[in-house]
Amino acid sequence: MRSTGRPSKTSGETGTHAPPDAPLAAFDRAALERWLAAEGVPSYRGGQILRWAYQRGASSYEQMTDLPIALRETLASRMPLHLPVLEERLVSALDGTRRYLWRLADGVTVESVGLPANDRLTVCFSTQAGCAMGCAFCATGEGGFVRDLGPGEMAQQVMLVGADFGQRVTNAVAMGQGEPLACYEATLGGLRLMNDADALGIGARHLTVSTCGIIAGIERLTDEPEQFTLAVSLHSARQATRDALVPAMRNQPLPRLRDALVRYADSTGRRPSLEYALIAGVNDAADELSALVEFCRGLLCHVNLIPVNPSEGTAFESPASGRAEEFVAALEHSGTEASIRKARGVDIDAACGQLTQRHALRTESDVDRLV
Ligand code: SAH
Ligand code: SF4
Repeated sequence: MRSTGRPSKTSGETGTHAPPDAPLAAFDRAALERWLAAEGVPSYRGGQILRWAYQRGASSYEQMTDLPIALRETLASRMPLHLPVLEERLVSALDGTRRYLWRLADGVTVESVGLPANDRLTVCFSTQAGCAMGCAFCATGEGGFVRDLGPGEMAQQVMLVGADFGQRVTNAVAMGQGEPLACYEATLGGLRLMNDADALGIGARHLTVSTCGIIAGIERLTDEPEQFTLAVSLHSARQATRDALVPAMRNQPLPRLRDALVRYADSTGRRPSLEYALIAGVNDAADELSALVEFCRGLLCHVNLIPVNPSEGTAFESPASGRAEEFVAALEHSGTEASIRKARGVDIDAACGQLTQRHALRTESDVDRLV
């Protein structure tokens, strides 16, 4: 059974399957309204609760003064409201990128990144604590998997980063810790809270899911009614290289992945991005470039080339300067849009793949030095 926040083209019942009594952050809107209906509470109360929780950042039900006192008491005892607690905040001296470490209600920690650019503010949020995929170049994968986040835990990260900047969040990307399509219902519920006019009100096209390539998840996303944007972390169009870099996707063959991307583009009219972390001596040779060019030929897509960011414990290095430009030129020559993504927040290890499952915090003096 599918379970997402609002009716989708192919689903019947919708909403995440939050247990009957669970923290508010475990609920998306549909699940919250179902819970309220079971208590005999009208559904418009759901909108009120969302506005308090995600627009005003309420930290307790007591603050929700337009809810009946009896309902506030029921909610406080059966659907606890926790805001993630800020454990650490680092600010890049280079570009103003901010990296946050949050402690969730059960003590688990996750990270988010805020990326300001002119009048835009993009938040990179985590969908899981840790990640089970174990990609060779990624620090998140190294720490293993802890747990999925709830839809509200994703939306809270975005809300709190916006509040810290004192700015409206214009874009949010599921490119923090975790594999969003490995916790599909929670991710979709989180994106719907971000999109919901009663919660964060961010346009669906400005909400991006990044996946290491889970084909069944891409197919489901294709059939959702909202226009969420898709990014696929490809890293190689040669099966053997991709198998070594993204070992969890060994059973997801490249031709099937490409078919799913074709269907996504045909059916939604939207252009998926392909992420390609360029690694010297691993996926930057001529045969890799021609395989990438062939993979993209005739496919509506945009390739983002990212010189690999150093991750502790791996010896991967980015290619000699000019190689990324050669990739862009060859792709564009064959009719595929491509660009180079500049790393942000490198002085605070906030760039792609550098978020780790941390339990030990840095010392206060480290924080002072960086802020
Ligand atoms: N799990 C999802 C989203 C989180 S990772 C995914 O894999 O897509 C976010 C992005 O960072 C992905 O494109 C991932 O491939 C990339 N990435 C991971 N480690 C990196 C590194 N060391 N250098 C550059 N990009 C990296
Ligand atoms: Fe997980 Fe993405 Fe990192 Fe791979 S790149 S280990 S899927 S977070």
